[in-house]
Amino acid sequence: MIQDIFPLTIGEEAVRNERTLLARVEGGRMMDSVQSVRYIVLHCSATRCDRDYTVPQLLRDHRARGFRTIGYHFYIRRDGTLTQHRRLLEVGAHCRPFNRCSIGVCYEGGLDAHGLPADTRTPRQTERLANLFRRLLTLFPHARLVGHRDLPGTRPKHCPCLDTRGVFGYLEEESVSNYGFRDIVLRQE
Ligand SMILES: [Zn+2]
Repeated sequence: MIQDIFPLTIGEEAVRNERTLLARVEGGRMMDSVQSVRYIVLHCSATRCDRDYTVPQLLRDHRARGFRTIGYHFYIRRDGTLTQHRRLLEVGAHCRPFNRCSIGVCYEGGLDAHGLPADTRTPRQTERLANLFRRLLTLFPHARLVGHRDLPGTRPKHCPCLDTRGVFGYLEEESVSNYGFRDIVLRQE
């Protein structure tokens, strides 16, 4: 089994109520409401599948770009380890001009051993992504699951180097068919 690493706060933070979701973050900007989340956006780190790209490396690179912290909300290493870097309704820095209406998820990889764009997901990353998307779609039932390259006017063009809707689009339908369950989760926790 894959271990969660805290803060994986999606359950604790997200499902209590909208007020806690919107609680301010020191130095960060918040979205306007739960309804603000229109897209869940998948990215790749655009690093080679045979090399490590650790959280500290990612943090260093994003700080070098002037971000306060890592721009994605979630990052998933090749071994399936997931870390959270922004509160759910905190505005991220991953897909201008859609940052105010999206949640960013990045998987480590996206380039093959020759440095060319490729779908380099490991089975553990796929499992972890599906699990995370399921939970996000439960909390944000009106959000659409997309790849970075599916958003108009965004760059780079390859990211996340896979057909996001083709691979994970079925999760949106699952989410719709479980509407009652979603409603209960949102109220109780
Ligand atoms: Zn991207």
